[in-house]
Amino acid sequence: KGPDPDLVAIAERMATVKHKILVLSGKGGVGKSTFSAQLSYALAAKDFQVGLLDIDICGPSIPKMLGLEGQEIHQSNLGWSPVYVESNLGVMSIGFMLPDPDEAVIWRGPRKNGIIKQFLKDVYWGELDFLIVDAPPGTSDEHISIVQFLQATGIDGAIIVTTPQQVSLIDVRKEVSFCKKVGLDVLGVVENMSGLCQPLTDMKFLSTTETGEQRDITAWVMASLKEKAPEMLNLVAFTEVFDSSGGGAEKMCRDMQVPFLGKVPMDPQLCRAAEEGRSCFSDKDKCRVSAPALKKIIDK
Ligand code: ADP
Repeated sequence: KGPDPDLVAIAERMATVKHKILVLSGKGGVGKSTFSAQLSYALAAKDFQVGLLDIDICGPSIPKMLGLEGQEIHQSNLGWSPVYVESNLGVMSIGFMLPDPDEAVIWRGPRKNGIIKQFLKDVYWGELDFLIVDAPPGTSDEHISIVQFLQATGIDGAIIVTTPQQVSLIDVRKEVSFCKKVGLDVLGVVENMSGLCQPLTDMKFLSTTETGEQRDITAWVMASLKEKAPEMLNLVAFTEVFDSSGGGAEKMCRDMQVPFLGKVPMDPQLCRAAEEGRSCFSDKDKCRVSAPALKKIIDK
């Protein structure tokens, strides 16, 4: 029996891609797509040629996070063309193929595997320094196929995104052990939503009267601060939201002997940047807390 023609086709396609990184999470909603998007923006800002491939088939959020909603994929004689955010940042997502973004994608395993294979085989990326692959959450059938397909062409490894809660960390342990089983390097674990950061100027101040009525006294607090201590307006408040007595992701990494990359706080400014489809690294967005934290992780 000869070599699998699909694997041969994928290997040919991937021959022009220097580094391939898979972004994984044990659960949905932990910020995996946000991280993939911001990682891609950051690498592109460093003048690398970057491709972002979204294979989170049931919940493709990458088009929205890169401000590409409603865009369509075009065919050329070289294959499917990615949608470009900038000349050095191309994006491919199942989201571009769905006529109605509100429609649920209910596909069984083989069909999902088929589209993933097709993405790897048929997208014309050209020369890339990095291909970032945003995978679905968990360790399902699809993950085994993705890893198989990418391993045939040499993959650098996986970055795993988690939140600090125990419920999420349990799933990350499974994710790490999955990587070990399939022989995929864990490049590191990112702890996202580690506590809540709030610039003082974004906060709302409430006071409760004796009769139990709630009043919004934000305008009064801000006016007083401006008058008496204007330098305080630059402060950012940090709240430890989750119980971190268990040591969070950092301890789990030590236990499982995988690198810990760092923590990104829950930051309303980052959430806004993601909702509006922008990079959190641009000056305009002033993600004062999350952008430096992400930058430190990405520079590693
Ligand atoms: P996943 O890909 O793991 O399902 P998403 O990246 O879609 O998760 O994130 C879920 C939601 O949480 C999104 O609305 C996103 O903007 C928000 N989010 C993710 N990380 C942060 C953060 N550090 N601070 C604030 N909001 C965040």
